[in-house]
Amino acid sequence: MNNSRNVVIGVDIGTTSTKAVVFGKFSQVVSSASFDYPIIQPHPGWAEQDPDLIFSAVVRSVNAAIKKAGIRPAQVKALGFSAAMHSLIALDEQGIPLTRCLIWADNRSAAQSERLLDEMKGLEIYQRTGTPVHPMSPLPKLLWMKEEQPPLFRQAHKFVSIKEYVIYRLYGQYVVDYSMASATGLFHLDTLDWDDGVLHLLGVTKQHLSRPVPVTYILQGMKKEWAEQMGVDQGIPAVIGASDGVLANVGVGAVSPGEAAITIGTSGAVRTISSVPKTDLRGRTFCYALTDHHWIVGGPTNNGGILLRWLRDEFGGQEREVAKKLGMDPYDLLTQYAETVPAGSEGLVFLPFLSGERAPYWNAKARGTFFGISLHHKREHFIRAVMEGVCLSILSVVLAIRDVTGSLSEIRVSGGFAKSAFWRQMLSDMLGKELLVPETHEASALGAAVMALYALGDLSSLEEVKQWVHIQATHVPNEKNTAVYLELFDLYERLYQRLKDEFDALSAFQAKYSRK
Ligand code: ADP
Repeated sequence: MNNSRNVVIGVDIGTTSTKAVVFGKFSQVVSSASFDYPIIQPHPGWAEQDPDLIFSAVVRSVNAAIKKAGIRPAQVKALGFSAAMHSLIALDEQGIPLTRCLIWADNRSAAQSERLLDEMKGLEIYQRTGTPVHPMSPLPKLLWMKEEQPPLFRQAHKFVSIKEYVIYRLYGQYVVDYSMASATGLFHLDTLDWDDGVLHLLGVTKQHLSRPVPVTYILQGMKKEWAEQMGVDQGIPAVIGASDGVLANVGVGAVSPGEAAITIGTSGAVRTISSVPKTDLRGRTFCYALTDHHWIVGGPTNNGGILLRWLRDEFGGQEREVAKKLGMDPYDLLTQYAETVPAGSEGLVFLPFLSGERAPYWNAKARGTFFGISLHHKREHFIRAVMEGVCLSILSVVLAIRDVTGSLSEIRVSGGFAKSAFWRQMLSDMLGKELLVPETHEASALGAAVMALYALGDLSSLEEVKQWVHIQATHVPNEKNTAVYLELFDLYERLYQRLKDEFDALSAFQAKYSRK
């Protein structure tokens, strides 16, 4: 190793862990380290984390990654930050948390979300702010705090996200990048400032919030104590960066208008780039800021790979045993069975809403449904129908996005589902589109590092990242299957619309008769 500043560290503050990745020349991963933290659920539907544990994970992961890389502080050129969206912490005047960090998965503000939509012009708020009105978002969470914990709400000096909290502790500044701000439901997409109407509705002022800055904003002067603990120079520039969702697009190389990234891990998301902010007349998609010319329009789905995991764990005992004997991954066995069934699962349709649904329906009460079960259906049909159900839900999000931004020019896929070539091909057939499979390692951390290089002027455009992202496979749709899926999707859409009211009734029934 030499003396030049030749590495950049991307720090990704995620939901399960914070990961620091040291990137060398051409974005090659030199080392990485991560520290986990739990989700605390003090009441059903609540989801909180300890902000100080997360802060300490940030410091420790950078330190550990640097140690693993065997580099000296003088070699680090910059830090770049990425963080999960939608979190909320109330702080007192000294910057000490008055609450835990309420994360995106926290549903306590379901009633406030419904009222925002029904009585408080929620759709208009969404169209100004780009964040769908949903309990995931800080806006209904703040309304909940105001209504349910008024003394705490009044006592709060600042309301911040986890990223702002980490930055405040490191640098003593309350700043928020446009990208994180645009996921709060409080930030006006056109003025790039807090939305007066929403602030008025909440009864908060700009002084309660951080100062919005571009994603290329450079933080300097890290507090000595933390620089020492991290093992970096105090004067090292840190680029504030953006949210993990939008940076994941950068990290897989989907950065030009019309290009899209589809990720299917436990949950799923589709995100494309638009050169101007765009929202949906019906409120189905989100719009988050990246740079002046890069806006991310997309939709998250609750029901991704978690469905195959559910099938494996609840019904796949047989496959798990066989796989163990053969030394295989049970997922590979399940997908091999599914492969023996033709597209459309011979008339077995699966609505995948086991955990309610976000985009495009935004219906927490939706539930899973097998439709069309016949005596000729065997386990392999059920497996395939579940995998098709995940793809149907992705198609429904893609179609909503297409209504907002126009058709997608190129699609890159990633996440656990991408381990299965068969599932990727199924998605290509379902969408009737070619899919590219990039080699991805920590897409959001790479996005944060790329943003840091861009902010420092080492890259002339974000698009340059493409030369670093290697494409390992391509899928071309099978027209015959695409025709089958078009018909299947029609049925799926109609089924959802017809069952919508029944899902409300079912949800009431489940609440009444389920064991707590
Ligand atoms: P997360 O990003 O949420 O941690 P992952 O990206 O690891 O999750 O994705 C996990 C999901 O990927 C699993 O639930 C499963 O559905 C899917 N998956 C993992 N391995 C395979 C495989 N070999 N074949 C098919 N699907 C797989």
